[in-house]
Amino acid sequence: MRILIVEDEDKTSSFLSRGLRESGFLVDTSPDGERALLLVLERSYDLVILDVMLPGIDGWEVLRQIRARGLRMPILFLTARDAVDDRVRGLDAGADDYLLKPFAFSEVLARVRTLMRRPPIQAREDLCVADLEIDLVRQRATRSGVRLDLTAKEFALLGLLVRRHGEVLSRTFIAEQVWDVNFDSDGNVVDVAIRRLRSKLDDPFEKKLIHTVRGTGYVLEDRT
Ligand code: CA
Repeated sequence: MRILIVEDEDKTSSFLSRGLRESGFLVDTSPDGERALLLVLERSYDLVILDVMLPGIDGWEVLRQIRARGLRMPILFLTARDAVDDRVRGLDAGADDYLLKPFAFSEVLARVRTLMRRPPIQAREDLCVADLEIDLVRQRATRSGVRLDLTAKEFALLGLLVRRHGEVLSRTFIAEQVWDVNFDSDGNVVDVAIRRLRSKLDDPFEKKLIHTVRGTGYVLEDRT
């Protein structure tokens, strides 16, 4: 399994590459986007770890060009803890997961292993469930062609539910993914947000897509 790390900060790059090599992966590194784009065409990588902040071509552009070249390997991007919008932007641009800096190596390894097991996200047409369609690039959601008027947060929540449709997501997981908070509370923030999303997504339509799984969390699926 070969991994490419694209990161200009030596410290982070060597921390990652050392840990991944010790875990049995083959690792290449690139300090910038230009070289990374050459490498992804030369060699076949099973995963790319991509820092958003790079000199020259930034991580967003690297991500876009990798996907534009039809390469579908999983991409894990690294972003600063306070850059909340980056997460949505990265996932929408075709990344598969993200890590907030600073991170522990155990987190990296867990994400890498999960991503390598998961088939890569396919093209946009996969982001349809029943009559719900979401366009991640333009951040639009429609049901039966009717545009849903969602806030950025609601869109992020819906995006997560759709990407993982059919999978029961716990409140804790949703909170971590959408709000970046660690919950030991009752998950009230998530419940409130789900209620708001339902009022736009499900209430006006006969077919309900978000389902509560008692004691666990929520799942978005077409149950007909
Ligand atoms: Ca950087």
